Amino acid sequence: MSNSEQAKIWKCDVCGYEYRGSEPPEMCPQCGAERVHFKSSASPVQRVVIVGAGIAGVSAAEAIRDDKSNATVTLLSDEVHLPYSRMNLTRYLAGEVNLDKLDLHPQSWYQENQIELYLKSPVTTVDPKQKIVRLADGREFAYDTLLLTNGAHPFVPPIAGAQTPGVQTLRTLEDADAILAAMAQPINVVCIGGGLLGLEVAGAISRRGAKVTVVESLAWLLPRQLDEAASHILQAKIEAMGIQVIVGARTQAFVGDGRVRAVQLEDGRELPADLVVISAGVTPNLDLARQAGLTVNRGIIVDEHMRTSDPQIYAAGDNAEFHGRLYGLWIPSKKEGAIAGYNAVNHEKIFNEDPPSARLKVLGIDLLSVGQITLQEGDKVLAQQTNGNYASFVFHEGKLVGAILLGDTSLAVLVQNAVDAHQDFSQALAQGITTAEFMQLLRN
Ligand SMILES: Cc1cc2nc3c(=O)[nH]c(=O)nc-3n(C[C@H](O)[C@H](O)[C@H](O)COP(=O)(O)OP(=O)(O)OC[C@H]3O[C@@H](n4cnc5c(N)ncnc54)[C@H](O)[C@@H]3O)c2cc1C
Repeated sequence: MSNSEQAKIWKCDVCGYEYRGSEPPEMCPQCGAERVHFKSSASPVQRVVIVGAGIAGVSAAEAIRDDKSNATVTLLSDEVHLPYSRMNLTRYLAGEVNLDKLDLHPQSWYQENQIELYLKSPVTTVDPKQKIVRLADGREFAYDTLLLTNGAHPFVPPIAGAQTPGVQTLRTLEDADAILAAMAQPINVVCIGGGLLGLEVAGAISRRGAKVTVVESLAWLLPRQLDEAASHILQAKIEAMGIQVIVGARTQAFVGDGRVRAVQLEDGRELPADLVVISAGVTPNLDLARQAGLTVNRGIIVDEHMRTSDPQIYAAGDNAEFHGRLYGLWIPSKKEGAIAGYNAVNHEKIFNEDPPSARLKVLGIDLLSVGQITLQEGDKVLAQQTNGNYASFVFHEGKLVGAILLGDTSLAVLVQNAVDAHQDFSQALAQGITTAEFMQLLRN
């Protein structure tokens, strides 16, 4: 199967239904009229092929249909499931979300919107000269415009024994199911990495009855989202849940015969482990882009239209690098995907950078970390700690550029908006405003 013949619009002369494809359908899906009732329009239709059906790819398809464009949309996924919410996999692991709630859209949505979704269809080659993508099984899809939204895969540090059965990562639904299968009996689990994903995995697994230890090599948890003071409060909250936390410790090896038995730390400690989950960041999937000759750095370089160095190819999501930044986050991936989709069908939409923003799910600990949290020269910070809650605000030249709210996040929306807008508080700062007064000022 392929779309290499030029696609056309076929209109049903009984009900007006429009079908896009190289041939008319056997039967009108709307009124049931036979194939002979379909008449083709003369002009060829733009063919958009999207590689990767995560949130970026699906958002691109949504944007193309939102635009009411006539383009044919082919969405190619190497996964076996309907496109699902990767972000909610930790909630699924924790038992907060059922399998049937993970889908981004029901199957019928793709049909109703005439998005040709092909599952189990890994793309192996992009030929930008012939404008064709090839699949592992030999199928070919021709495109006028190509979107590379094929995401990222987990980074696994080069630690001895990392390939031992029982040592795994969490990126796909299959990964989550493998972790759940291992949870059938009470076990010791070591989570390598104390970032957002590592902590959510730890929380989810702990709720399933496992004895969990988190190992973070840097000096404190969530080093990219929290300052040290906030991190100590967070650590205390997590330890109060029965999760052991070890910071500033590097992993030396995963040991076990046939299956992992323990994690050895460089300081000589050995932690019993029936399962190890590594959450050490992601590596963008760049093979297709490299092989297509696109300009690539840490990610595929895109401009504010999400256009790559080939004007007929766009990229978005975890594999795209914009202004030196790879977000690795849900909201930016969704936004970038939509921008790529609109621009693929001749819009002029521009991606506006937002300060990165993070929240913690699953653990039941309210947290917002947004924008810049480390101080640069001349920056001013307001911070306070009350009743196990923590708030800190970073100002650059009087403008709010970053904030942490831990425990009490009732100001989250106001803080997020003020950081996004780089709101100017120079006057209040000059008057020596306290943290409590500043929070009151935001509320008013
Ligand atoms: C468990 C988990 C929890 C997370 N929680 C949060 C959170 O709370 N907040 C947040 O902001 N972010 C979170 N993230 C990160 C967020 O999910 C990602 O940033 C986002 O999913 C990236 O979307 P994407 O579409 O760019 O890539 P992906 O979701 O990786 O989708 C890419 C798709 O392309 C497919 N693909 C790859 N190569 C090919 C090929 N050659 N042919 C065909 N298909 C291919 C992949 O299998 C995949 O289905 C979480 C991530 C994980 C794993």
